[in-house]
Amino acid sequence: MITKRIIKGLHWLLPNRCLWCTLPAHQPQQQLCTACQNALPEFDMVFYHGNLLWLPAVQRGLPKLQADRLVSLSWYQQPWKLAITQWKFNQDLAAGQWLLSCFAQLAHNYQEAGFPLPDLLTYIPMPRKRQRQRGFNQAELLAKTLAEVWQRPVVALLSRKQLDKQQLNLHRSARLRNLRRAFQVSESEQHLLRQTESIALVDDVITTGSTMRFACKALKQAGASNIQLWTLAITESAAR
Ligand SMILES: [Zn+2]
Repeated sequence: MITKRIIKGLHWLLPNRCLWCTLPAHQPQQQLCTACQNALPEFDMVFYHGNLLWLPAVQRGLPKLQADRLVSLSWYQQPWKLAITQWKFNQDLAAGQWLLSCFAQLAHNYQEAGFPLPDLLTYIPMPRKRQRQRGFNQAELLAKTLAEVWQRPVVALLSRKQLDKQQLNLHRSARLRNLRRAFQVSESEQHLLRQTESIALVDDVITTGSTMRFACKALKQAGASNIQLWTLAITESAAR
């Protein structure tokens, strides 16, 4: 109670700024001002029936995904783009916290609408070196957020072979070659997969769809039958 009062008092003295327009936010711990919050561009779950793969615009761009369902907050656009960049590359934990809470709300809405829940959650692993530098894997944190809302376990099904040391500097065809062999599923996880009806695979953003495609392929080859993809945002170029 006292802590709440102190936070409110501090907020009155030093209101936190809206992540997007920098005007004061109206509530403590709010990352966007009310006007920006109301104008936030989001996919409307009613219009895509809980599966973005029903939309031709998405399906056309991601035809080889080998996934059964795709759920996302929005196209990769502002202010999502800013928040995601701030979180991943500038260690802005407030932006991360805000994205995680939006993702939790998405999971909640999805469940409320009665769409099928996965039995377990997994995520795209990061190359070890990059994770050490960043200190966290945003895909793992997002998977844990869904897990908490639905009370389902998170299992690290995929591991990454050490192939893509300089993935960022490689030519697209070389990157694809690397990605094709990047993911593997261990024997024990394969056993678990064969006994699981449906899983959700989580990544922060779908850019070209290649990462998700090869991760799905590895999971299907390892025995996964039904895969839902969950992500914060999808680039429009991926969906043309
Ligand atoms: Zn604002």
